[in-house]
Amino acid sequence: MEHLIELDKKHFLHPSTSIQQQQEQGSKLLVESGEGIYLKDNQGKSYIDAMSSLWNVHIGHGRTELAEAAAEQMKKLAFSSAFSTFTHEPGIRLAEKIAKLSPGNLNTVFFTSGGSESNDTAIKLIRHYWKIQGQPERRKIVALKRGYHGVAAASTSATGIPEFWEMAGHMMTDFIHANTSYQSTTEAAIQSLREKFEAEGPETIAAFMAEPIQGAGGVLIPPKDYFQEVRKLCDEYGIPFIADEVITGFGRTGTMFGLENWGVVPDMMTFAKGVTSGYMPLGGVVISEPIHEVLKQKSEGTLFHGFTYSGHPTATAVGLKNIELIEKEGLVENAKKIGAKMLEGFNRIKEKLEIVGEVRAMGLLGAIELVKDPAANENFSKELNAGPKVIEELHKRGVICRGVTYENSNIICFAPPLIMTEAQLDDVLEKVYESILSVQQQLMR
Ligand code: PLP
Repeated sequence: MEHLIELDKKHFLHPSTSIQQQQEQGSKLLVESGEGIYLKDNQGKSYIDAMSSLWNVHIGHGRTELAEAAAEQMKKLAFSSAFSTFTHEPGIRLAEKIAKLSPGNLNTVFFTSGGSESNDTAIKLIRHYWKIQGQPERRKIVALKRGYHGVAAASTSATGIPEFWEMAGHMMTDFIHANTSYQSTTEAAIQSLREKFEAEGPETIAAFMAEPIQGAGGVLIPPKDYFQEVRKLCDEYGIPFIADEVITGFGRTGTMFGLENWGVVPDMMTFAKGVTSGYMPLGGVVISEPIHEVLKQKSEGTLFHGFTYSGHPTATAVGLKNIELIEKEGLVENAKKIGAKMLEGFNRIKEKLEIVGEVRAMGLLGAIELVKDPAANENFSKELNAGPKVIEELHKRGVICRGVTYENSNIICFAPPLIMTEAQLDDVLEKVYESILSVQQQLMR
C-alpha cells in the first residue's frame, strides 16, 4: 500500500486535487473493487458510494453485463472510425436509441468521449449553424453563474465558477454569465437573463447554455416555472437553448432527462457520464431536427470537427447495454421513488439538527446545506470548515459524498447509484445524521 501511495505521489498527477495536500498526505483512498453501491479499498474496508463516484455510475459497480458487452464488441471490432464515409452498427444503434429517448424533436447525435468535449462541440456546432446562415457575428454564449460545463477550452469559459478561468489563465471572449434562480426568484433570474440578452444584443448571441440542475455548483434546483420562462425568453429573442444533461441525463432526476421535470425541450442537449454508467468514456450532443436541417442544407464541404473516439464502437456498445439495463430494471422509476424517500429523510434530519438549513432533491440528486443559524440563514465562517468536517465524518463511517464550499456556503451533495434500495438509503441517512450531529457538537461546543 505505502509503496503504491509513494508511486502515486511521484508519477500520477491527479485531476481536481490539491497537489500540495496529495504530496504531503498521500491519496486517502486506494479503491480496489466495486459491487453495487459499494466500493472496497485495498484494506478491505467497504464504502457506500453515495456520489456514484463522479455522479455517473448509475447502474452500480461490478456489472458483468457491461464487461461482457465490451468484451464481445472488442473481440469483433474494438475500434473503427466514424469519420468520413465509415460507420458501424453499435454507433448507429446507440444514436437511434438516444434519439428515441430524447424529448421533442431532438433526433440526431454527435458522439464525443465526455462532458467537456460535448459542451465544446455544442458551442462549435451552434456557432457553425449561425455562420452558414450568414450570421458569423452570432458567437456569444450566455450561461449561468455557478454552472459547470467542463474543462476544455470553451466549456471552461461557459463554466460560471471563476476559479476555472483562473486556472486556464483567462476566460475566452464571448462568454457571459447571468444570475441563477438560486437564492432568488424565477422573476429576478429571468430579468437578469433578459438584461444580458439586451445588453449584449440578441443578434450577437449564439446560444444560452444551462444545466437543468447545477451539480458541481451544489445541486441547485431551479423553481418549478424557471425553465418554462427560460424557454419563452429564448423563443422571444430567437436564441437556441443548449441543455447540459451531463449529470441529469439517463434517469438521475427520476425522468430520463432532467429538463423533462420542467416539461421543456431544448434545441440541443449534451450528455456523458450516465450514458455508460462510467464503464467506458462516452458523451455526445443531441441536436434538433430544424438545426440538423440547416446543417444538412447549408454546410459546405467537411465539418472540421471530430474526435478520434467520436462514436467509439466499444463505448457505444457498452452504452447500449447500459441503457438496456436502466430500462429493464426500472431504474428511472427507482430514482424517482427512492429519491422522494431520500428527500423525506433529509427533512427528518433537518428537524432534528440545528445546523441543517435547506435540504433538496430531485430524484437521486440531492443536497443538504449546513448553516450556523437556519432561521437567519446565516452561514458558518469558512475557517470552521463545517462542510469538509462532515465529509470527513461520513468517510470515517464509510460513506462517500461530495462537499461543495462556495463563498461561505457548505453543501453536502448526494447522487447515489440508481439501483439503491430503501434499506441502503436508510443506512446512508443514519450515517449522515450521525456525521452532522458529530460536527454540530464540535462546532457548538
Ligand atoms: N457538464 C456537467 C454538468 C458536468 O457535471 C461535467 C462533469 O462533472 C461536465 C460537463 C464535464 O464532463 P467531463 O468531466 O466528462 O468532461
